[in-house]
Amino acid sequence: MTDTPTLKIEGVRYIVTMDPERRIVADGSVVITGNCISQVGKSAELASTLADQTIDGSGMVLTPGFVNGHMHISYAHAVRGLFPDDLGAEYLPNVFRLQQAMSADDEYATSMLAIVELLKYGTTTFIDPGTTSHLEHCMTAYDQAGCRIVIGRNVQDRPNPLNLPVYGTDEAIRETEDVVALAASRSSELVTAWSMPFSAEFCTPELLEACDRIASDHATRSTLHFTNGPRWIEECRRTHGCTPTEYLDRHGVLNSRMTLAHSLGIGADEAHLIADRGAAVVMCPTAAVKGGAGTSSHGLLPELLEFGATVGLGTDAGNNSNLLETLRSVYLAAVLYKDGRRDVGMIPAETALELGTIGGAAALGMGDLIGSIEPGKVADLVLFDTRRAEWGALHNPINSLVYNADGRSVHTVIVDGKVVVADHRPLFVDEAALVDEVQGRGEALLKRTSVAFAPRWPVA
Ligand SMILES: [Zn+2]
Repeated sequence: MTDTPTLKIEGVRYIVTMDPERRIVADGSVVITGNCISQVGKSAELASTLADQTIDGSGMVLTPGFVNGHMHISYAHAVRGLFPDDLGAEYLPNVFRLQQAMSADDEYATSMLAIVELLKYGTTTFIDPGTTSHLEHCMTAYDQAGCRIVIGRNVQDRPNPLNLPVYGTDEAIRETEDVVALAASRSSELVTAWSMPFSAEFCTPELLEACDRIASDHATRSTLHFTNGPRWIEECRRTHGCTPTEYLDRHGVLNSRMTLAHSLGIGADEAHLIADRGAAVVMCPTAAVKGGAGTSSHGLLPELLEFGATVGLGTDAGNNSNLLETLRSVYLAAVLYKDGRRDVGMIPAETALELGTIGGAAALGMGDLIGSIEPGKVADLVLFDTRRAEWGALHNPINSLVYNADGRSVHTVIVDGKVVVADHRPLFVDEAALVDEVQGRGEALLKRTSVAFAPRWPVA
């Protein structure tokens, strides 16, 4: 007998394994030993395997935890829904002005609320791409929730119109080293840190190269915003005589350690180059469509996949995706290109689901750890309750998951072998009290910054 605790999920209606054969096990069971999946099979085969704790999976669809590769968790929630749709160039400067006025306790509460939302709707691993200022303070929120998170420090050393602080290059390098070292010094394997230069547009080549070197030295990765608006595309062309993707390549940072967020404004030759260099891409369709980025007509997700790039999905922040639900990005990935290209063969439901799970895991360099339900992988699992209206009738769990389900049917969530959401409720925090707290903090933040955007309709 071993002292390692065991957990069994028994009699699951369908297990969507996402294993190399993409097996779907009907009436299956999964056994977890410690933090790892130890057995996956038919319920009858595993009937004699007993565990310390058993979860009834009848009427449930079990999937790997979803992976969200671009999700600012700390700054948006206190003011979510504030901004009108058409702020345009005024949008991000307002966002970052508010962000920089947040206290450590504000960030703790908003991070916790974002984590609740992510976990409740089935996202177990996510990247917070560098905009959390008070990382040490927020570390206790990550630990309390038990989520799997990648953190970092957004750094930039060029003037920018976004109200992002401009660091000296040396200072930016030191900040990056400090955050990577901070995560490495802790015992938890759930929190890791990457280099996070904000974007090639607002960072000097020296900083981009140093961030890549830090990632290499610490065997970790880098991510940056690769949104490529007309101004940056033109600057690359005029000043450097190349495309934004060639610019990254020229400085040696387009490599297998890099995860490019968004990847908008690129051409097919750039998609090819990204795939050739082994850089990963995280597309954020929820933010792209709301921002009018033209992703359905000009986005190159089908080409990136065709050329063999590693692609995952994100949502971006609570201001521009609003709902932090990776499944919504999965749905959009499955439908946008069908419409934009007038071709129902574009991004099948199965491919979209891969992007949100095993593809997302690979895009984070975690393909051997998470993203599928297989013995040896860590137990990051989601149980969807199919005894709800939107799940009936159920004949093809992939189609139902991608097209008619959403995070509201997530019943139980397990991260690293530990149950963190049960019966739709987070076990690590009082959700209602937290929502009230963030409301109060949001109102206070708006008052002290004098940022105000009234609803267009009168509030009586
Ligand atoms: Zn972002």
